[in-house]
Amino acid sequence: MTLVLPFDNSYAQLPPRFYTRQNAVPVREPRLVAWNASLAAYLGIDGGGDAETLARIFAGNEAPEGATPLAQVYAGHQFGGFSPQLGDGRALLLGEVVDSHGQRRDIQLKGSGPTPYSRMGDGRAWLGPVLREYVVSEAMHALGLPTTRALAAVTTGERVYREPGALPGAVLTRVASSHIRVGTFQYFAARRDLDGLRALCDHAIARHCPDVDGPAGLLSEVIDRQARLVAGWLAVGFIHGVMNTDNTTISGETIDYGPCAFMDSYHPQTVYSSIDAHGRYAYDNQAHVIVWNMAQFATALVPLMPDQDAAIEGFTALVHAMPERIEAEWRRVFAAKIGIAEAGEEDAALAGDLLARMAEGRADFTNTFRALIEGGARDQFLDPAAFDAWEARWRARLAREADPEAVMRAANPAFIPRNHRVEQMIEAAVGGDLKPFERLMDVLSHPYDDQPDAADLRRPPAASEVVHATFCGT
Ligand code: AMP
Ligand code: MG
Repeated sequence: MTLVLPFDNSYAQLPPRFYTRQNAVPVREPRLVAWNASLAAYLGIDGGGDAETLARIFAGNEAPEGATPLAQVYAGHQFGGFSPQLGDGRALLLGEVVDSHGQRRDIQLKGSGPTPYSRMGDGRAWLGPVLREYVVSEAMHALGLPTTRALAAVTTGERVYREPGALPGAVLTRVASSHIRVGTFQYFAARRDLDGLRALCDHAIARHCPDVDGPAGLLSEVIDRQARLVAGWLAVGFIHGVMNTDNTTISGETIDYGPCAFMDSYHPQTVYSSIDAHGRYAYDNQAHVIVWNMAQFATALVPLMPDQDAAIEGFTALVHAMPERIEAEWRRVFAAKIGIAEAGEEDAALAGDLLARMAEGRADFTNTFRALIEGGARDQFLDPAAFDAWEARWRARLAREADPEAVMRAANPAFIPRNHRVEQMIEAAVGGDLKPFERLMDVLSHPYDDQPDAADLRRPPAASEVVHATFCGT
């Protein structure tokens, strides 16, 4: 049987230098590991396909009717250094579908074989990072933050060679409101390809914010979305790990779940990524790095402006205003975490003071905030007295709130994809047992609900289970 995807491909209409058209490289033995039926239904994809059909299509062995597979080209600052040409080295955009809310979404295969942009890479992915991205991106969505999503995971029946040895190959199908990155703009700007830059800018505006006025309007909108996104990450203890400009979207969605991690015990300088030696993308540095990334975006847009000096001045002002925007958003989300519906200036200090005590007391980030609702927060601290002193001030402040518990329940998840659980899930999946994956998916699909049967998934790692480093997934 065949699977129907209602394609309507606009990126493929852009000039040929925006991409390379090619098909996926077929794999030996595609097998469906995961299928996101509810997302498929939402996208208007007829999920009537049997598992074999889905496996063939989402391994890239068979292009669905209407697909125009292509590898997108982009550039990007990686750890601060500019690479003038990156691109989809192991991914292919199959095309776009328009979902039931009229929103256009990319359908992309990741791990589908080499492309002209693969450089030294093999164009493939292995099952571990594929399931990690599947679980963490879907968890992010359930937490209420903008993100790419996971539609399918397929194993290839082929081995992929990485540092630990031969690993099972896999392909992830990723859904995004687009894959346009800051780095896509940088690619054309670096080549002084003004026509390309203009075409990209028009395409991005039409797609993401049709009401804004030109490049300046786009910059302002993206700054706003990224400010909200990064504050949202901080609120759930998320560390992206590779905030390079090629991993920063114009849509404002989280993209590229490589060495990302949710923090267990809180410390602002936490880093998990094995390649982030200097902590450029540490938890608390994310709010600074995103401003730097927006400055690069602004720089790429300047050539489009008729009066460049005026544009530089205007864009600089927009970028300089971003930290304040992030701070306001931070204040809002962290005030909610402590039960305050409308944050005032002094509430930021109250939340900040709790965090400082948590950092000293090695408190578990997720469980401490959740325990503010359920009781027992002081038990999360090495020195519970540190919490007591804060609690008195907090209770006095809450007296002015109508329903702090409801506010906290909506802001403090009980469940996050804890690193050690993700690792255990991957180990089981590699051994052929998908039950931990399915259970994680189920519990993390409603992370704000008490789920007494899943109490084990709320526990921080035992000393022997702590994950100290995460890897890029390549
Ligand atoms: P990332 O750090 O995952 O954002 O990837 C940076 C660049 O490396 C992108 O252009 C990727 O397409 C490329 N890349 C990552 N892994 C591979 C791989 N296994 N084969 C080919 N290209 C890759
Ligand atoms: Mg990337």
